Amino acid sequence: MIVAILISAVALLIWNGSSFFQRLILAEGEVSSSPKIAAVAMTLNVALILFGWRRYADLQHEAEKRVEGERRAHQIASTDGMTALLNRKGFGDVGADICSAATHNQQHVAVLSLQLHRFKAINDRYGYDVGDAVLRRLAGALSDDMPEGAALARLSGGEFAVILVAFNPDVARSLGDRMLYQVTRPLEEQGKFIQVGAFIGIASGDPADNSISDLLRRADIAMEHARSARAARPMWFDAGMERELIAHSEIEQGIRFGLELDQFIPYFEPQVDLASGAIIGFEVLARWEHPLSGLVSPDTFIPIAEEHNLIGRLSDQVVRKALAAAVEWDSALSLSINISPRQFTDSWLAQKIVRLLAETGFPADRLVVEVTESSLFADIDLARTIVTSLKNQGIALALDDFGTGFSSLSHLRALPFDKIKIDRSFVATLGRDRESAAIIRAVTTLAQALDVPVTVEGIEDADTYAALLKIGCAVGQGWYFGKPMPAEDAAQLLHHRQAAAAPQVAKKAY
Ligand code: C2E
Ligand code: MG
Ligand code: MG
Repeated sequence: MIVAILISAVALLIWNGSSFFQRLILAEGEVSSSPKIAAVAMTLNVALILFGWRRYADLQHEAEKRVEGERRAHQIASTDGMTALLNRKGFGDVGADICSAATHNQQHVAVLSLQLHRFKAINDRYGYDVGDAVLRRLAGALSDDMPEGAALARLSGGEFAVILVAFNPDVARSLGDRMLYQVTRPLEEQGKFIQVGAFIGIASGDPADNSISDLLRRADIAMEHARSARAARPMWFDAGMERELIAHSEIEQGIRFGLELDQFIPYFEPQVDLASGAIIGFEVLARWEHPLSGLVSPDTFIPIAEEHNLIGRLSDQVVRKALAAAVEWDSALSLSINISPRQFTDSWLAQKIVRLLAETGFPADRLVVEVTESSLFADIDLARTIVTSLKNQGIALALDDFGTGFSSLSHLRALPFDKIKIDRSFVATLGRDRESAAIIRAVTTLAQALDVPVTVEGIEDADTYAALLKIGCAVGQGWYFGKPMPAEDAAQLLHHRQAAAAPQVAKKAY
């Protein structure tokens, strides 16, 4: 650059026939003619032009290299290294272009969200090499099937998305069908026969009113619905799904706050010796004392607490309070607590329950743990270990809601149950359904043969009570004997019963 400036300066001086230059040359006694000077000046000027041109070419080349570098960097930043499809950023950029073209043409766009199902199992079973190769093949198969103008991306792990201009909903739906077909077809990779599962959600809308991230979020919500429903077809987003999701996440947040603020409390439902009518124990049922909604039923919050892994803390809060209250009551009464399937995957469950007993001073041999069949048979070995620890401490085990779900008589022998609870759905139809009576009779007879007492749930009236007594059921509970109540009411009830007839509280735990 400096050289160019110097040459330019010299050339200008010469070209202008600068008197200074001429005087300098003449002063040395040389006779110089103006053509000579002009030739020198011309040469210098040509050199200058050549130099300038060269410099321009260099700069041009550098600029092109920079543009190409930027383009490459942008491409790398927008591409998924594993499959060479667009990544999340690329999907946003290309999607924005598709949306603006669609807006211009007054067309709707559709977004499809595809999530592979149990893909991790393929990695775990066959290794990451096979998993990666399968991902690449699926990406290739999906890519080959894309209609013109659609953009396909791999957003993360097993998550793919497509955006396309949808002339009518059938275009998007049939693309979704084809994608499911492509992804779930069995394939052979490195000698392994592999079949992948997948779920698809679709959302569409006017791109003028919906951002691409809104559409993708809705397609994801629909995909989650497809997953929960195990739907083997694409599921279309509707506004109800979003409302459900919002309600669900509000409850989840509420549970987290509720746990911090100690809002979960035990209610107590009396369990009665049917022959004498005496209370022999209580079932502990969780309630949420919500500052705005009042008392919330466990059906609303237990499934969400289970899903978000909050059930252990919640159970801890409820059971601790229940044990602390019941330790003051008649020492012959048992207390039954409900333990979720999710808690049965916690290998520390038995220790946690024993710690609560130690903290509250409640005797282990008056505690009954109620479990449903699904808790136990997900991982029967872990369940056996937990049950053995509980039973070693003297804690009893009850099989809850017997007769629902995958009830099987063989389950009764799989674990050492101390008690079976017949689900209230059979009791509710006892009066009008002969089958229910037959089932209750059969289970009661079988349980007697196995020497396992039966408790019947959901006794709401005197006729049902009488019918169950006739069948030979020993223990029951239900609104006829008392609805679930707070600890103070349960204490009052016991107090009144004891005052009215001292022998009313039977000296048998369950
Ligand atoms: P569950 O263990 O089978 O509890 C019995 C349910 O039947 C209770 O409902 C009780 O209020 C209701 N019930 C009792 N007698 C009658 C009756 O005569 N008629 C009618 N219609 N219903 C009756 P709740 O309290 O709403 O509890 C529902 C379920 O929530 C429980 O079923 C249990 O599975 C779960 N649950 C409750 N508390 C807890 C808890 O602390 N931990 C866990 N993991 N689950 C809990
Ligand atoms: Mg129960
Ligand atoms: Mg039950």
